[in-house]
Amino acid sequence: MPVPTSFLAQLVALFGQPVAENPTQYMQEQAFAARGLNWRYITMEVPPDHLADAVRGLRGMGFAGANCTIPHKVAVIQHLDDLTSTARKIGAVNTIVRQRDGSLLGENTDGKGFLRAVQEAGLDVRGVHAVVLGAGGAARAIAVELAVAGARQITVVNRTPASAETLATQVRERTGVETLPVAWRGAYPVPAGTQLLVNATSIALFPNVHDVVPVDYATIRPDMLVCDVIPNPPDTPFLQNARAQGARTLDGLGMLVYQGAIAFQMWTGEEAPIDVMRRALEEVFAQAT
Ligand code: NDP
Repeated sequence: MPVPTSFLAQLVALFGQPVAENPTQYMQEQAFAARGLNWRYITMEVPPDHLADAVRGLRGMGFAGANCTIPHKVAVIQHLDDLTSTARKIGAVNTIVRQRDGSLLGENTDGKGFLRAVQEAGLDVRGVHAVVLGAGGAARAIAVELAVAGARQITVVNRTPASAETLATQVRERTGVETLPVAWRGAYPVPAGTQLLVNATSIALFPNVHDVVPVDYATIRPDMLVCDVIPNPPDTPFLQNARAQGARTLDGLGMLVYQGAIAFQMWTGEEAPIDVMRRALEEVFAQAT
């Protein structure tokens, strides 16, 4: 191997707590290697009371960017210089990009990754009625991006009704799109006219792989696109049941790949190698199961 002429790599961090099992580093480093980039992606455990120092550290050491995850997605905002308009509407950040002038821009690629996966599946979300199950961080990002992309109506269904109400109100106020909260009791009947149904809860995430999202599956129709955010394992009982009703389905692995691909492109300016990233995640998850 030739001795490098420069030992300066571009650095990207992932910080959160707990973060040790997050597969993103492997996915991004495979992508850097596939594009021949001298970049590193470093996973760092950062507790909440070290967040301000951690962001100062990124600035001081000239990191090109970062991902942040639980519990920092909202708290990190106060330490950044600017937000994209959708990150502001979502109220949470998962990607940080160092700008040319050294300032740090916060973006949220979770919902954008979801949208890209939906578009790749051939659904134009303009004018659709979407039902989002869950009202946590993933649901928030998805609902805002759907609204910004032109969905006609969004229904937010959640076990804790107050969270559904808060999310619906914020999406309505920030995007102008009709967004209705529903309290989730028992098997949820999917309203007629729904074109897009999304499980954005954590139900069936490894190791609880047999848990079933409580939906009245008889109300799922073949003209619906049914999506799950769960990336591991990607073929959830929710998606299997939806397919049994004749619906087309989309797994959470695609969303995870695309949210990373959008971040990769923002940091490096290069197109992300989607296939390499998807294979990398499949490898990691195959080891975990
Ligand atoms: P949060 O903790 O913010 O939200 C969890 C949501 O799931 C809440 O709405 C919660 O309802 C609901 N929920 C959990 N358990 C149940 C249950 N048994 N019955 C009904 N509702 C339930 O988590 P996030 O939104 O950050 O993440 C949710 C999932 O999305 C995770 O599994 C995560 O892995 C996945 N994700 C996937 C991404 C991808 O790229 N594929 C990106 C980001 C997240 P309540 O409010 O009542 O507690």
